[in-house]
Amino acid sequence: MPASPDTDFVVIGAGIAGLRAAIELAAAGRVLVLSKQEITDFARETNARPTDGVLSDEDEISLHLQDTLEVGDGLSNPEAAKVLVEEAPERIAELIAWATKADRGGIKLTFEGAGVHSRNRTLHANGASTGREILRTLCTRARSLPEISVRECEFSSELDVIDGRIAGVRVFDHDGQVHTIQASAVLLATGGLGQLYLNTTNPATSTGDGVALAYRGGAEIMDMEFVQFHPTALYLKKAPRLLLSEALLEKGAHLLNMEMTRFMPKYHPMGELAPHHVLARAIMHELDRSRAKDPVVYLDLTDLDAQQIRRRFPRIYAACMQCNIDIASEFIPLQPAAHFSMGGVRTNLEGQTSLPGLYAAGETAANGVHGANRLAGNSLLEALVFAARAGRKMCDTLRRPMAKASRRFSARAYSNGPLPLPVEQIIGQIRQLMWKHAGIVRTGSSLEQAIRGLEEIGRQISYPHNRRECEARNLQTAGLLIARSALAREESRGSHYRTDFPDRNDMKLRRHSLVAGDKIRFE
Ligand SMILES: Cc1cc2nc3c(=O)[nH]c(=O)nc-3n(C[C@H](O)[C@H](O)[C@H](O)COP(=O)(O)OP(=O)(O)OC[C@H]3O[C@@H](n4cnc5c(N)ncnc54)[C@H](O)[C@@H]3O)c2cc1C
Repeated sequence: MPASPDTDFVVIGAGIAGLRAAIELAAAGRVLVLSKQEITDFARETNARPTDGVLSDEDEISLHLQDTLEVGDGLSNPEAAKVLVEEAPERIAELIAWATKADRGGIKLTFEGAGVHSRNRTLHANGASTGREILRTLCTRARSLPEISVRECEFSSELDVIDGRIAGVRVFDHDGQVHTIQASAVLLATGGLGQLYLNTTNPATSTGDGVALAYRGGAEIMDMEFVQFHPTALYLKKAPRLLLSEALLEKGAHLLNMEMTRFMPKYHPMGELAPHHVLARAIMHELDRSRAKDPVVYLDLTDLDAQQIRRRFPRIYAACMQCNIDIASEFIPLQPAAHFSMGGVRTNLEGQTSLPGLYAAGETAANGVHGANRLAGNSLLEALVFAARAGRKMCDTLRRPMAKASRRFSARAYSNGPLPLPVEQIIGQIRQLMWKHAGIVRTGSSLEQAIRGLEEIGRQISYPHNRRECEARNLQTAGLLIARSALAREESRGSHYRTDFPDRNDMKLRRHSLVAGDKIRFE
């Protein structure tokens, strides 16, 4: 007799990808959605939170495809990009039908992406963050379906793998108790990994858990070297790294170094409208050459119309005011910040990973749609389109009987002995190492240094005892995957920049990096 699972499907993550997949899965069986934080917090805190929120609409598909491939710098998977742009209108129409506030009459189209989009194509919810409105809509829809249960504050710490196939997950519940949940299939929708870096726009939950769980479970991981850094994030001690939208630069804001000199024209003919990665590298160069202890560069909007600034950027205006900066009359201190991971758990276009029964969608997944860099606005869309596809494919797994065997976890955790250092100190070391040696500007020797440091840290945290220690171990694993992949990619492409290999090498490296266990290869 096949064993009866606790639920049919487990979805790890209650962001846009997780909830969209759960809605699809509810048609086929019982779905358990796990979220490591409260969902109300998340709607406030989510990745999709503080920007104007953008989403590609149904504009000319070929142009959107062309822009996506161009930004991907020769590495986007054209098939995935085609699916993304072709299925976008259907996913958007469905959302609108599910009562998103982005009503057609009020959709505002703005030119987004500092010169990377060839035409206006962004969908905005009226008076709110589009991402947050999408999340709220999906949440309401998911909660209305009796097949879906959501467990908040449950942390997935390990995948349960039996005979090379997913059998369930191991979790810490909200009381810190460890238990296991059996399921026919598991979807990873755990979001990004920005917390690996000293500066990040990402929420505290973005600790690379999905990638680390999949890697330890034996799944293939792809393109980890490609991390997008947003060039302009508010930099003030004790304030969150608020994303300062590129639209500010498009309106005519200037970047000034610590000598109050405009520097971008010396780096790129387009000045402040240069591509994101060029801006980020130029800013890092200015920071590095400054003698200040904690250097910044400044965004200067003071020549622009103050009223227009307040009207067009109300959230940025209000957030800066909370930090006592009136952006209409004062310079905004900033640094670049880790923003989005193009790499992740390798999937096909149906969200299937290389580990049978394991699926992935959203930022934690990688099917090559973004290639070496992401077109602004494509990630909310990616989460919707590919999570729906993954959900549909997972429904097939219900027909398979559950494996009946003794439990074997993909890693042995929670053994004895306290960590040698407080966990926050260890996380601080990881973030320093990644920022300094595996961040915006890399070299072979800096990456080797990062790897050595992370390996040493790995020895200290191989047996985590609680949720935070598990997060530290996941950060260490994800960091090591980034550094190893970046060391292997001896070229510069998209968001990956090495001063020792400053050019793109299509002959050798127009291929994806793949890591499984100790092996790394290009395909
Ligand atoms: C500041 C900011 C602005 C952005 N603006 C835009 C934009 O305008 N347009 C655009 O397209 N994209 C934008 N992005 C990117 C986009 O928001 C994200 O890529 C997208 O929201 C990711 O969705 P997701 O569902 O994959 O993950 P997330 O939304 O990050 O959700 C992850 C979920 O997984 C849960 N989780 C994680 N680990 C575990 C675990 N171990 N156990 C249990 N639960 C876990 C979390 O609690 C959460 O519920 C922005 C990102 C940021 C940070």
